[in-house]
Amino acid sequence: MKRIKIKDILSSDKSQYEACVKGWVRTFRNNQFIALNDGSTIHNLQAVVDFENTSEEILKRITTGACVSVTGTIITSLGKGQKYELKASALEILGDSDPEKYPLQPKKHSLEFLREIAHLRFRTSTFSAVFRVRNVLSHAVHKFFQEKGFAWIHTPIITASDAEGAGQMFRVTTLDLKNPPKTESGEIDFSQDFFGKSTNLTVSGQLEGELAAMALSEIYTFGPTFRAENSNTTRHLAEFWMIEPEMAFYDLNDNMDLAQELLQYVIKEALAHCADDLQFLNERLLEEEKQKPQNERSEMNLVDKLKFCVENDFQRVTYTEAIDILRESNHNKKKKFSYLIDKWGADLQSEHERYLVEKHFKKPVILIDYPKEIKAFYMRQNEDGKTVRAMDVLFPGIGEIIGGSQREERYDKLLQRMQEMHIPHEEMYWYLDTRRFGACPHAGFGLGFERLVLFVTGMTNIRDIIAFARTPKNCEF
Ligand code: ATP
Ligand code: MN
Repeated sequence: MKRIKIKDILSSDKSQYEACVKGWVRTFRNNQFIALNDGSTIHNLQAVVDFENTSEEILKRITTGACVSVTGTIITSLGKGQKYELKASALEILGDSDPEKYPLQPKKHSLEFLREIAHLRFRTSTFSAVFRVRNVLSHAVHKFFQEKGFAWIHTPIITASDAEGAGQMFRVTTLDLKNPPKTESGEIDFSQDFFGKSTNLTVSGQLEGELAAMALSEIYTFGPTFRAENSNTTRHLAEFWMIEPEMAFYDLNDNMDLAQELLQYVIKEALAHCADDLQFLNERLLEEEKQKPQNERSEMNLVDKLKFCVENDFQRVTYTEAIDILRESNHNKKKKFSYLIDKWGADLQSEHERYLVEKHFKKPVILIDYPKEIKAFYMRQNEDGKTVRAMDVLFPGIGEIIGGSQREERYDKLLQRMQEMHIPHEEMYWYLDTRRFGACPHAGFGLGFERLVLFVTGMTNIRDIIAFARTPKNCEF
């Protein structure tokens, strides 16, 4: 008999039919009731075993974690909390799971413990919910851009360029580390390396994305990026996925409109397609927040917070306005920030971003027109000579979720900025060429996919929304 997914059984309005269900045992009670989960939904299906006609040997092997195939009749359940159950007529053990050794007991485990057994944590309700939401969000990203006619560009993973400034990249090499070839001056001779030059893993696909936008008009990337930054925070990974749209003929306002539309669209998709999972994660979060003092708890529950973001425009504020707000804030005056804001030009830390979003505006914020000193060389310079057309989208609980800008399309201005910032402009002739041949105003941004998943799932550590986190001193599985 063909296998039916639990999700399809629970969402149908049929009963009294034969079905075969395969999945993993969550619990087995009274030698009779299996809570079976196959990952198609957060909900388990109860399979009722005819224990009088099942051998003792088989009953003993129905343990938490075991994989079973159950055939029988789907009937309306008399039990609480479930519409249907499976009255088993045949049961086969597909894979045993020794209950003495299986690390996942049918009880609540801490997220820290589950991180150590990340190869098994998919089997918990929390993680299966997280990965279903992650999947829906990633599909929604593609849906959004494809509906708008953006072309998905696959930018290289291995690159010889450094869009962000050196020091944070992972080197890619096939040189013998024990005995690397040296140049006459004693430096490592990368001309003998695989690519004939020094290469790294990409930190961003933006620069290549811009090249494509200068022909296809509207493109996006969605791929892995790598940063060797030693930031051990709950929001940074060494390997993460980024979505980077680049659009010809867009100015900063168009860019902000697109960023808001994208975020609202994908959150809406998650609300529409992951209702059960989000409800579960909502309750998980409420439970978790009970441990916290009242003043640290969220003002809104997860689902309300998501709806709020979908229904309200993001607040658009200039960096200069934000600095004034922060400087005048009680938080600053009472020295509650770790980094006090004393003057214009200061880089904003996550604590400041979150203050603006969570305490001051109480909604997502888009900060624009940052000082050029704290932003990248490719951002379009404003007339004031001090600021650039940058935008950061800041989200509650997260801080920066998107960083973007209108790009500098004027050749002379771009070259001058590259020189000032010691960007090797000869090597980047290909980037400058787009400004020499048929340049146009254009803009784009980078959305950190994991930060989005973090926000939508209400999880609090970025290590818990990617299957296998890569962070400093940690590359398991
Ligand atoms: P932050 O200041 O938070 O480190 P950033 O300014 O370095 O971010 P960008 O270089 O603008 O970030 O990258 C674009 C987006 O990629 C960010 O808005 C964020 O969502 C995401 N991002 C950046 N670094 C990381 C990281 N190490 N892990 C996960 N996501 C990241
Ligand atoms: Mn960073």
